Amino acid sequence: MSSNKNNWKVEDSDHLYQVSRWGEGYFAINNKGELVVTPEKNEHQISLNAIIEEAQKDRLSLPFVIRFHDVLRSQVVKLNKTFKKVMEQAKYQGDYFGVYPIKVNQLREVVEEIVDAGSEFNYGLEAGSKTELLTVLAQNTNEKSLTILNGYKDKEYLELALLGTKIGRNMVVVIEKYSEILNLLEVVEGEEQCPMIGVRVKLNSKSSGKWAESSGDFAKFGLTVSELVDFIDLLKRENKLQYLKLFHFHAGSQIPDIKTIKECITEGARFYTELIKLGAPLEYFDAGGGVGINYESSAYSINYNLDNYIEDVVYIIRDICDEKKIKHPSIVTETGRAIAAQHSCVVTNVFGSAKPKPPKMENIERNPDDHLLLKKMKDCYLELNFSNYLDVYNDACLYKEETLSAFKLGVLDLRQRVVIENLYWNVCQQILTMTENTEDVHPEIEQLRTNMADKLLCNFSLFQSAPDSWAIGQVLPVVPITRLDERPTHECTLADITCDSDGKISEFSGPDGLKKTMPIHKFEYGEDYNIGLFLTGAYQDTMGDMHNLFGRLNEVHVYIDKDDPKGFYIEEVIFGNSAAQVLEIMQYSPFEMARKIKSTVDKKIKEGKIKPREGIKLVDYFENSLKGYTYLE
Ligand SMILES: *Cc1c(COP(=O)(O)O)cnc(C)c1O
Repeated sequence: MSSNKNNWKVEDSDHLYQVSRWGEGYFAINNKGELVVTPEKNEHQISLNAIIEEAQKDRLSLPFVIRFHDVLRSQVVKLNKTFKKVMEQAKYQGDYFGVYPIKVNQLREVVEEIVDAGSEFNYGLEAGSKTELLTVLAQNTNEKSLTILNGYKDKEYLELALLGTKIGRNMVVVIEKYSEILNLLEVVEGEEQCPMIGVRVKLNSKSSGKWAESSGDFAKFGLTVSELVDFIDLLKRENKLQYLKLFHFHAGSQIPDIKTIKECITEGARFYTELIKLGAPLEYFDAGGGVGINYESSAYSINYNLDNYIEDVVYIIRDICDEKKIKHPSIVTETGRAIAAQHSCVVTNVFGSAKPKPPKMENIERNPDDHLLLKKMKDCYLELNFSNYLDVYNDACLYKEETLSAFKLGVLDLRQRVVIENLYWNVCQQILTMTENTEDVHPEIEQLRTNMADKLLCNFSLFQSAPDSWAIGQVLPVVPITRLDERPTHECTLADITCDSDGKISEFSGPDGLKKTMPIHKFEYGEDYNIGLFLTGAYQDTMGDMHNLFGRLNEVHVYIDKDDPKGFYIEEVIFGNSAAQVLEIMQYSPFEMARKIKSTVDKKIKEGKIKPREGIKLVDYFENSLKGYTYLE
């Protein structure tokens, strides 16, 4: 597994881009230096580049989403099998009935794959809104699995829950606000059936990290202890306590610290045993979601894995129930992110650089007629060496600022300003070259490195494909798809094709934590150089917006095929939005738009300003562009 281009091994790339850490066995680098996906954890490798080439041969343009259905299946199986295994080891009496919260990724193909992979384990679905409830009613046809309902519930939502119960589904309505139980009692009044009732409590244990707000007294959802007691009394009075089957909490997403998980499960288990003592006939302990993903090498990274999580859940509940001599409940989790994150990635092509062209070298001979500021900048350039570069850098920055002031005052003309600035940029470039191999440079030089790094233009929209990167500063793994057997030669940041200055990626995971730039290889624009954005399968895929009217991406759905020479087949291609589709969502009529252009062109033809042949071409061009992909083609 090694190569020798510039004395560089694929293992070095693995370390540099942290592939083994975030890939968790699903991603690796092969001996040709290509990024590969290993849906069965290292058994069988599929080259991402081979997938891209095949999709492009089928005329699909970048950027696109690649979905690895086997990875999705593998995560569902892993979650369920690990729970069964740990429960057996712990001699746990209850069973495991996981549900997939579809808000994490509602795409039909994703939900269907999860339901199918989970059917042998009676793995169910969770909905958080009315539209999601309609979806899970249609998709979760397994009568042994659970359908769990969270989110705001109006009467219609509760009627739909009752409908589910009537057609034989194991519906659980989780009461998250006290008023919801009043609505439910009204809806089931006079009915012979009632959905199972769940109750969400506010835990005191708090998560840290970027989603810390989901728990604690002031969380948006969950009953307080006093509401909880009233709730039980109400159910008793109304003769509905027999339907109270599920206890639930959700401590937030991407929980970074296993200690938080232990605390939440412990507090939850105490609640559970207390509620049983109050007479609640509970059977399910629903620990919600929150299992994190190894996105980045920083404090927001997680310090546990799925196995550790499952062991904690099972053993803590077992021990507390044993202590109180209470029957072990069946365990439910609503693990979302950890099921879906790894299964999809976004591949984009680099098509240019936003970096200004390199500054011209100026004549540096001292000249008595030079303006004072030019004299000083020349001194900076001439005196610069390795022992004084920080001082020289600070001087040069000062003279550059003074140059700007002088220009604003009309003391320097534009050409004089250009000469001084060119010299300034040459000083900066020299400093970067002389400190290239210096590890611990001063923060100012570190900042200079970032500022002067190449800004690669990538054909994608951050707001569509990685909204968390923009909204909460989530760092996602970014890696070149090929050439990982070569030493990368320079550092860059990434910019997308929206006209928004926030549409950039300038934080990356490196071997020593977060850094402001990522290493890339030398390539000519126009040559294929593709970059992958990974772990986008949870939330990123479906939360994207239409900023600048970039729509959904093309998609390639890939399955393993061991008999195939390349080891895979593309099962489905879904075309991304055309300009016309995106415009329709915004209430435009593409037909009307084309008609308006045509009538303008007709008028110009009549006036003799455009030749008829030319006019037809212009109208055709406009119409074809409406049918085209919203990204660069
Ligand atoms: C969002 C959510 C989940 C999923 O959380 P993950 O962190 O993705 O596992 C589970 N349950 C509820 C109630 C949620 O709101």
